[in-house]
Amino acid sequence: MLCTTVPERTPSYFSPHGHAMKNYDHIVVGLGTTGAFTCRTLAQRGKKVLGLDMHAPPHDQGSHHGQSRSIRRAYLEGTSYVPMVLRAWELWRQLEQDNRQQLLYKTGNLTIGPPESPALHGFFKSAEKYQIAHQQLSATETKRNWPTLNLPDHYVAGLEVEAGILRAEKGIKLALLHGTSEGATIHTSELATGWHEYPDKIEVHTTKSTYCSETVLFCADSGNLALLPQLAGQLSCRRVPVRWVTPENPGPFSLGNFPVNFWQVPTESAKEGEDYDEFYSLPILPGDKQLKIAPHNHLAPLTGESQSATIDTKEHEHLQKLIKRYLPSMAKLAPIHQLCRYTLTPDGNFMLGKVPGHQRAFCSVLGGHGFKFAPVLGEIFADLLCNQSPEFDLSLFDPTRF
Ligand SMILES: Cc1cc2nc3c(=O)[nH]c(=O)nc-3n(C[C@H](O)[C@H](O)[C@H](O)COP(=O)(O)OP(=O)(O)OC[C@H]3O[C@@H](n4cnc5c(N)ncnc54)[C@H](O)[C@@H]3O)c2cc1C
Repeated sequence: MLCTTVPERTPSYFSPHGHAMKNYDHIVVGLGTTGAFTCRTLAQRGKKVLGLDMHAPPHDQGSHHGQSRSIRRAYLEGTSYVPMVLRAWELWRQLEQDNRQQLLYKTGNLTIGPPESPALHGFFKSAEKYQIAHQQLSATETKRNWPTLNLPDHYVAGLEVEAGILRAEKGIKLALLHGTSEGATIHTSELATGWHEYPDKIEVHTTKSTYCSETVLFCADSGNLALLPQLAGQLSCRRVPVRWVTPENPGPFSLGNFPVNFWQVPTESAKEGEDYDEFYSLPILPGDKQLKIAPHNHLAPLTGESQSATIDTKEHEHLQKLIKRYLPSMAKLAPIHQLCRYTLTPDGNFMLGKVPGHQRAFCSVLGGHGFKFAPVLGEIFADLLCNQSPEFDLSLFDPTRF
């Protein structure tokens, strides 16, 4: 049972003699994108931190799995994200240097749509405000550079030349390795089942034990729905039918030759400017043969019953229609599908901060675009959990905003 009120009984973190027992400074529930990096940063700062995960990250049961996640700084979702992603970029580069391993590969990023589309508006606003190197390309210019992108004549593209791809699972592995070597306690295959906040401590219950700490961070992706009943009505879990195709000639689609391309196009049924379909494709990574294509919105709910690995006909047809029209050379290639998930807030923006009504419990919900921020989220939550103010304006991400 989840209980977040002060209980009448003596809390279990008191010894029989009434002395307070402090197990950990901080507990992190979920060791994926946010959790792995938060554990690492807290441990680096000398904190006694316990990280809990029901699986053993990286794995394919959350939102982080797979080889590739795009990173871009001319952030179409809003200028509030830009200072955070600029810092994240620095931290990814630092992580690479510390480990002598490449994690971030530049390949460019295109935001494509009709000139009035909100995505392009957001892209140019962020690029201009933060002077991020970018170009505006006409449909003709875009097609000349990348003939497989079939833009209607009036479309434009915003190109961020320096943007790229992150090696997602490798990044999480490294963060957890560092965290452990800096002293973080990592428990995998341990499901968090509930928690209590007391005036001076937090108790977290798992399938194996109960732990106490000063503060707790819930960054359990869809697991947050069960752990945070006060947010469950606001969060929704969505099916993301990711498609992989193998072009006969991979050269033009390979990393460095092919940019990440994100499309925001008017839906067939809506009048122009009313509603948009969003989808993207990512280049082929070194050593791979497959190109990744996925829808980004209009996603079906992921319910208990539908957590199967199969993609339904409607999902297949929706994506196929977009591919036929905008990426036609990929429409005839035999697809392999994989069902992934987004855990979304009502406005699509992150939730970063205190769990509403609590002082010692914090939450992170990232939705469909959070991976690139992982190392800066580690810093942000290490600050918040230690009662320090992060250097970023987090008002857009306030969990009490709904
Ligand atoms: C197909 C796809 C493509 C994407 N592309 C991009 C991209 O290009 N760029 C980008 O920046 N972002 C992208 N994203 C989004 C990004 O991957 C997510 O925003 C991010 O991974 C979410 O991180 P998280 O820490 O919230 O969750 P996760 O990384 O999923 O971690 C949550 C962890 O919590 C654990 N857990 C759950 N419940 C419990 C429990 N009760 N007890 C203990 N542990 C629990 C899980 O096992 C999991 O390890 C994409 C997402 C998907 C699905």
